[in-house]
Amino acid sequence: MKKRRLLWQLFPSYLLITVIALAAVSGFASKTVRQFFLDGIAEDLRARARLVEGHVVPYLSPLNETKVNRICTEAGKASGTRVTVVLRSGRVIGDSEENPSQMDNHGTRPEILDAVEFGLGRSIRKSATLGQQMMYVSVPIRQQKLITAFVRTSLPLTDIEAEIRAIQARVLLVGLFVAVLAGVISLLVSRRITRPVEEMRQGAERFADGMLGHRLLMPDTQELAALADALNRMAQQLDRRIQTIVRQRNELETVLSSMAEGVIAVDLDEGIINMNQAAAAMFGAGALEKGNRPIQEAIRNSDFQRFVKRALTGDQELQGDIVLYHEKQERILSIHSTPLRDSEEKRIGILVVMNDVTELRRLENLRRDFVANVSHEIKTPLTAIKGFVETLQHGAVKDPQEIQRFLSIISRHVDRLSAIVEDLLKLSRIEREDEAKKIGFAEAPIEAVIRSAVGFCQARAEEKGIRIEVDCDAGVRAQIDASLIEQAVINLLDNAVNYTGENGRIRVEARSDKDRVRLRVIDNGIGIERQHLPRLFERFYRVDKARSRKIGGTGLGLSIVKHIVQAHGGTVSVQSEPDKGSTFEIFLPG
Ligand code: ADP
Repeated sequence: MKKRRLLWQLFPSYLLITVIALAAVSGFASKTVRQFFLDGIAEDLRARARLVEGHVVPYLSPLNETKVNRICTEAGKASGTRVTVVLRSGRVIGDSEENPSQMDNHGTRPEILDAVEFGLGRSIRKSATLGQQMMYVSVPIRQQKLITAFVRTSLPLTDIEAEIRAIQARVLLVGLFVAVLAGVISLLVSRRITRPVEEMRQGAERFADGMLGHRLLMPDTQELAALADALNRMAQQLDRRIQTIVRQRNELETVLSSMAEGVIAVDLDEGIINMNQAAAAMFGAGALEKGNRPIQEAIRNSDFQRFVKRALTGDQELQGDIVLYHEKQERILSIHSTPLRDSEEKRIGILVVMNDVTELRRLENLRRDFVANVSHEIKTPLTAIKGFVETLQHGAVKDPQEIQRFLSIISRHVDRLSAIVEDLLKLSRIEREDEAKKIGFAEAPIEAVIRSAVGFCQARAEEKGIRIEVDCDAGVRAQIDASLIEQAVINLLDNAVNYTGENGRIRVEARSDKDRVRLRVIDNGIGIERQHLPRLFERFYRVDKARSRKIGGTGLGLSIVKHIVQAHGGTVSVQSEPDKGSTFEIFLPG
């Protein structure tokens, strides 16, 4: 239903009351004025009739109609009034305007009847004789207490009526003027009442539009002022609460978005209530769209969807691993769900927390593989040793030369074992010291380190006719643990010598490159095929196992290099081409 404005409810009521009051007053006033006028005329007519009565009485007994008629005519002329004398019987014996003999019997005229009954008769009606509105007043003439005749005086009311109407018109005009004035005043008063209400309405609408900092002005009216005050306080409270909610939400968002764990809140209908960036990153950027999207739409992973379904049906916490392929990479997520409850402990969904455990699992696998590899590497020489020892023990071999050969094989395997153990110990020492931050870094010249390493490998290189060149400025310095870097260069040189043919060339370079030091070991040896390069630095990884073993390799040399370089905050890489040679490059922070 269309609501009317308060102004249009108040103003017409005021106007109606004013108009009714005015109409009543002016109606009553004009009636009173008219009555007053008519009473005055009636009184006047009565006095004139009494005057005429005095003149007429002598001619009634004996009756002299002519005389009576003349008196009527004269009196009528003199007073401007019509004068009639009527006998008790009703017969007209004198009239100032008409011939009495031609006039009807007036015995039943109301003024005559009233005069008989009340001693004075008065009537307003249209005259049958003159045809206009007249006032008649008649008084009885008594002789010896008996009514013998009546004197009737009358006046046309046309002029009087016009005068009364003029007065009434004036009253009406004044009434109208007062009504208009009252109307304007009521409009102003209504406005005065409704304006503050309207202002409050506008203010309240601003509140509704979210402008809670706005304040309503205080109206003069007590009740409205109380209302405005209550509204202002309400807005202030709302503002504070909303600010608190927003702050809490922002805090929560900050916490959620800075978490490394993926967090997704899911409602009972499998719609996403909230999801943080980490979760979106795990499932692809498209997952983080606002709105209560169903989980099936946002996260297209059937294992995850199944997990959520299971978690929603039960009331327990759930734990599990799922595998997903994101950007062509396999990722393993460890997921954990907890029921979500509202403030009344009613279940509203679940909270799923996800950890990317790909790296963890990879490390676990690495460790497992490492243990298997170590066992395998150690088992091979051990089995060989055991075999040769048993053969010797049984005394089957008598030839001292053969015995000598067996013993030297055993010795070689023992050397291998000790080399493996030694390399493993080196690895674990580097790892331990790196973790405990115990590596003693000091600024040292790189050239000295290289020369010392070259000196270590020189003899073996010369055996194979290999020349080792060193190209390093004396000024190249870096923050290093000299003995570790020397070990790394020895390992690289060792490999270079091992995997380079007779009369080959090895070059060791060191340069300052911006704020880093670049160290390269270049050989022109057998090189490495492309497919092996990514795994070359893994523990026990060898391109050619048999060859490596033959030359006493443990498969740990490059792994040690990598660990040493990483402990220095540097990087190591390899470029190689079969039959052309290999270049191992180390970058160390300067
Ligand atoms: P190893 O003890 O077997 O030398 P490393 O970890 O030092 O173990 O090296 C791993 C593998 O990388 C080696 O088995 C070898 O096949 C290859 N390799 C290392 N250095 C070179 C090089 N300079 N030229 C060719 N192959 C190399």
